[in-house]
Amino acid sequence: MIEADYVVVGAGSAGCVVAARLSETGAQVVLLEAGPKDSALWIHIPAGILKLLDHPVLNWNYAAAGPNQRSIHWPRGKTLGGSSSINGMLYVRGNPADFDGWAQMGCRGWSFDDVLPYFRKSEHYKQGDDAEYRGKGGPLKVEDYRTILPLTHKFIEAAQEAGHVFRKDLNGREQEGVGYSQMTRRGRWRGSTAQTFLREARSRDNLRVETEALASRLVFEGTRCVGVKYRQYGQEQEIRARKEVILSGGAINSPHLLQISGIGPAAHLQSIGVPVVADLLGVGGNLQDHYVTRVSHRVSGSVSINTLSRGIALAGQVARFFTVGNGALTFGVTTAQVFTRSSPEKSSPDLQLLFTPASYDNQKFGTLEQQDGMTVAVCPVRPDSRGTIMARSADPWEKPLIQPNYLSDPADMRVTMAGVRFTREIFAQRPIAQFSTVETMPGPAIQTEDALLDYAKQTGTTIYHPVGTCRMGDGPSAVVDSRLRVHGIHGLRVIDASVMPTLTTGNTNAPTIMIGEKGADMIKADNAA
Ligand SMILES: Cc1cc2nc3c(=O)[nH]c(=O)nc-3n(C[C@H](O)[C@H](O)[C@H](O)COP(=O)(O)OP(=O)(O)OC[C@H]3O[C@@H](n4cnc5c(N)ncnc54)[C@H](O)[C@@H]3O)c2cc1C
Repeated sequence: MIEADYVVVGAGSAGCVVAARLSETGAQVVLLEAGPKDSALWIHIPAGILKLLDHPVLNWNYAAAGPNQRSIHWPRGKTLGGSSSINGMLYVRGNPADFDGWAQMGCRGWSFDDVLPYFRKSEHYKQGDDAEYRGKGGPLKVEDYRTILPLTHKFIEAAQEAGHVFRKDLNGREQEGVGYSQMTRRGRWRGSTAQTFLREARSRDNLRVETEALASRLVFEGTRCVGVKYRQYGQEQEIRARKEVILSGGAINSPHLLQISGIGPAAHLQSIGVPVVADLLGVGGNLQDHYVTRVSHRVSGSVSINTLSRGIALAGQVARFFTVGNGALTFGVTTAQVFTRSSPEKSSPDLQLLFTPASYDNQKFGTLEQQDGMTVAVCPVRPDSRGTIMARSADPWEKPLIQPNYLSDPADMRVTMAGVRFTREIFAQRPIAQFSTVETMPGPAIQTEDALLDYAKQTGTTIYHPVGTCRMGDGPSAVVDSRLRVHGIHGLRVIDASVMPTLTTGNTNAPTIMIGEKGADMIKADNAA
């Protein structure tokens, strides 16, 4: 049996940060990752996301219950870097109100003023001259979107004409308005946490990374977590943690591993034959996700990614990528964003409109349409609907039941409707309207609230931001305390997107990396005392 000071389960957005930072202290750190090394080329080419969305090896390929009895595909990265190795690479911190809200809910030390230093510490943003907000010198390379398609400029002009203020830096002082996307990218290559944090730390002898090692149970002595059982290359193994076990398996796998190890709602654990170690009601509850409804247009008179991703044009883009390192292959999907409020009573944005100079083939998952198109994904970014993730059995290899209950709260429907209205207003402005021949989705015939709601339920999808299933805080539904320690258990923390009490106003990778930074600092401080 091997032993280490710290055992980190999951080398994803947060796990790589935690392992890298803990290894700075000289402590023995072992990082267990269920997936393989991140050696596949598609991972490193930003546009490769389309090849990774349902990759049979590098993706967990979960299925969630959607509205109207639909099943919705839920990708999650299964390789070094986790979901940061397969994501759209958007760098979005969220709104100060998100973190101040966490603090008000009882998460001590998580207000915006508390977390800002960790956002700054993690990043290297070359254009980040506003030193109060942005960081330079951190492992995570953040870059501005590099423009190759005029459609994105035109969308930004149109949004301004529709009344949205232009923001040079959507991660700076003000979030509300329209601006270009920023991405976690190293030059032309994807900047996952494996290729940034972990890469810098890998030379340290005290950090050991085990890939294709699936943690199957946490090991307890009484209420102390002392190690992890895992399977690697067909062999059952166990590793002991002298100081702590850190669970960074992400918003699906962390609550699942806790449940099958005996930490969760006692009645449910008993019903699936798992002996109860701690009755924690909240494990797997409080699930929140970003559910989007798309508005698409047929484009004429300008090129979209649809054309660039096929035939001769694609060959040109591939050559451009490998020679000069720019072009369509260097960005993920969304090139511009609007943050706005669904109604004036809201004190901060509750809507994100994500613009992509491309359009999707609804019949084939992850495929772009043949003809040129452009799309806005309308996202109620602070949803009120809540769901659950529950183990179906004690078997670590059986996927859990995922029920997000999308649009179950009427408030989310109202915000979605407002977002579709705002999007239509932007697309009606001349700078972008001149390139549209028709609204293809939902289409001009769909106008009434009922028709739009049907459309949202029938065609909406996830943009892959599940959080909240090991909620931080106090009270019966909280799973971890403000120092991310599992309530009632010693030697065990959860550090990943699952600890967020509420979703942030935007994409979740940057906030998860911040949680990794802050969590690692807490471990260092608590173990130095
Ligand atoms: C397709 C896609 C696109 C996205 N686009 C964006 C975007 O553009 N911008 C943005 O900000 N966010 C985006 N996100 C969301 C963002 O990437 C996630 O919120 C973030 O990566 C979550 O980090 P995490 O550390 O919680 O989990 P993950 O990064 O998913 O890491 C969990 C890791 O743990 C491993 N693991 C799980 N269980 C076990 C086990 N039992 N044993 C061993 N290892 C285990 C997994 O294999 C994985 O490597 C996207 C996500 C996806 C899937």
